[in-house]
Order: sequence, then C-alpha cells, then structure tokens
Amino acid sequence: MKLSRRHDARTSRGIVVTFLGTRGEIDVRSRCHQRHSSLLVQCDSARVMIDCGTDWLGRLEAVLPTAIVLTHAHPDHAAGLAEGAPCPVYATKGTWDLIDRFPIEDRRTLPLNKSLPIDGLLFKVVPVEHSVRAPAVGFRVSMKRRSLFYVPDVAAFRNAAGVLAGIDVYIGDGATIRRSMVRKRGRARIGHASIVDQLVWCRKVGIPRAIFTHCGSPIVRANVRTINATLQQLGRDYSVEARFACDGDRLFLADGRQARWTRERA
Ligand SMILES: [Zn+2]
Ligand SMILES: [Zn+2]
Repeated sequence: MKLSRRHDARTSRGIVVTFLGTRGEIDVRSRCHQRHSSLLVQCDSARVMIDCGTDWLGRLEAVLPTAIVLTHAHPDHAAGLAEGAPCPVYATKGTWDLIDRFPIEDRRTLPLNKSLPIDGLLFKVVPVEHSVRAPAVGFRVSMKRRSLFYVPDVAAFRNAAGVLAGIDVYIGDGATIRRSMVRKRGRARIGHASIVDQLVWCRKVGIPRAIFTHCGSPIVRANVRTINATLQQLGRDYSVEARFACDGDRLFLADGRQARWTRERA
C-alpha cells in the first residue's frame, strides 16, 4: 500500500510533549524548575494540558489549551483554575467534589479505569495511591502505536505491571530520589514513591525510558548537570534511560521512530 505524502507527514509528526512546568509542591524554584508541574500534549490541532497548579493562574492565555485534564485536586495541580478555564476541563468525580467552587463552565467527568478520547488522543484513567483526601489518577496517553504514562504524584500503583505494560515513556514523580516519602493511612499508602522505586516498576515491565517531573527541593536546589548525571547512572543500574525534565523541555513520539528529546524552550 502506498501512503500519501500527507498521511506520511501526519504520521511522522506523532505526539509532541512539552514540559510546561516541573516543580513539585515546594517553596523553592530555579530557572530549570520555575513552575508547578504541567504537561502539554500536542497532536495535530489538539493542545491538551495536563494539570494546572497555582503557578498557572492568569497564564493560560499563553498556553492556549484545547482541553485541560487534571490528575487530582491538590493546589499544585488544580488551583490555576480558580478563576475558570478557557476550554473544557476533565477531572474525576473525586476531584470535581473538591474544586466545585471554581467557576469552570465546561466540566467533564473522567471515568476511572476506562479510556476516553480527548481531542484525538486516547486517555486511560488509572487510579493511583497518593492522597486519601484528594484521590489521584495517572494517565496512559496514546496516539496510534505510541504511548506515554504521566503520573506526577504517586505513592504506589495497585497493579503496576498491568498498568504500565507496553509504555514507550514513563513520566513520573520526581519528589525524591532514594528516600521514600510514602506513609500509611490505614491500608492506604500516601505521599510520593522514590525515583528508585519507580525505576524498579519500569524495569519490571521493560519500559526503556523514564523522565521525572514534579521535582522536590533537593533536586530543584541541585546543579542541573550533576543531578542529571546521578539519575542517569541510577537509570543504568535499572536498565532504564532516566533523566529529569526542565521547564520547556520537549519530547517527540512518532510511529516507527525512537522517542526524541530536545531542550529547545517552549
Ligand atoms: Zn503535586
Ligand atoms: Zn498531590
């Protein structure tokens, strides 16, 4: 079968991911980690923004999202919507219950453990353990045969192997490298899994690449090159190509190609 040039061009464009922000819920910031973690996923004309924390209040005009999707209701993920949104907003019922007061006009409810198309991208909504008060989800985002998993805040998965199988890139919680920040509330686990724990999950299912966002204070305060060298070495120990994201970093995922990473600023 001969593919038209137009089809070819569209296929090769694939998914473009921009790290709009990479900072966790902390007071410190740096040039590399200025704003609360948020991801812009682009595909054809879609511009889907995942999470919109306090740092994004009044800044949505520059992002021009066609949809905003929320992982959970903590302020570093949702409080940027306190004055409303210029597009449809997708969140789980548990998140809507907590941000009900926000003047958002077009509210859409995300079904748990199901997939739904958002502007041409397929989002699978995966509940994760992170907070009892603000229930969180991660997203498996797919387009054609490429997929990524975005989970900026995670203490644990109930079924990591099943959920993460077949992912091209894991984008995870960069709060802490080695020291676990997971605590127990009854039977629930809350807080943040270490990067080491997340690399173990990636290795188990053979995910080749992991990028960490939602960076914690020791990471934001560190020299960018030094801390990335530490993470790259750690990744090699687990057979995963690993790195921290900086605000503005981009990742390109296209069919039939290796994922490509650039530092060009958004
Ligand atoms: Zn957070
Ligand atoms: Zn959180």
